[in-house]
Amino acid sequence: MVFWGMLDQEYGAKIAAMLSALAKPTSGTDPRTTAERQGDAFAEVIELASRSEGLPEQGGERQHLTLSMSFKDFMDNTGVANVEGGGVMSAAEARRIACDSTVMRLVLGAGKEILDVGRQQRTAPKGIRKALIERDGSCAFPGCATEPARCHAHHVVEWANGGPTSLDNMVLLCGSHHRLIHHSRWTVKMVDHRPVFSDGLEDAG
Ligand SMILES: [Zn+2]
Ligand SMILES: [Zn+2]
Repeated sequence: MVFWGMLDQEYGAKIAAMLSALAKPTSGTDPRTTAERQGDAFAEVIELASRSEGLPEQGGERQHLTLSMSFKDFMDNTGVANVEGGGVMSAAEARRIACDSTVMRLVLGAGKEILDVGRQQRTAPKGIRKALIERDGSCAFPGCATEPARCHAHHVVEWANGGPTSLDNMVLLCGSHHRLIHHSRWTVKMVDHRPVFSDGLEDAG
């Protein structure tokens, strides 16, 4: 989506303050450019707002995003998902969003079959989230101190691949490191109940 616009001084100052707070580098070696960090920060403003209790319901439901794609494509991590209201996103993006989402219901269909995967199965329940916060403290990525309220609960073995929503299969990740894990060679696995990260270069020699 491309957009531009103007804000009055009050909301201009507010958005500038929010972006500045959210766009801070996650570590001394944050590879993102300033523009990328600000773009991620703007996306985070939207995400935080979408999780807000104060947001009005839409058609009797909490705000949600509906994606449609074939079950096979979802499982094979190929093809695209159609976004209700227009546009498409890659299967990998759909899987990342499904990984920890309180605002999305996935509609998976083969033919007329609709499989509502239900957010309860995917989203870390309060008890698990609390234990995750105790264990990880912040985004668990090395050097990142992003606070838990801004983190996703990532499934180490992807939920789509049968990974359970359990403490031993979850790790707190900020939005940008969640993207990194899903969309780059970086991986995370559990060793002795702790998340261990790898940049994926060892295996490649
Ligand atoms: Zn994830
Ligand atoms: Zn992080």
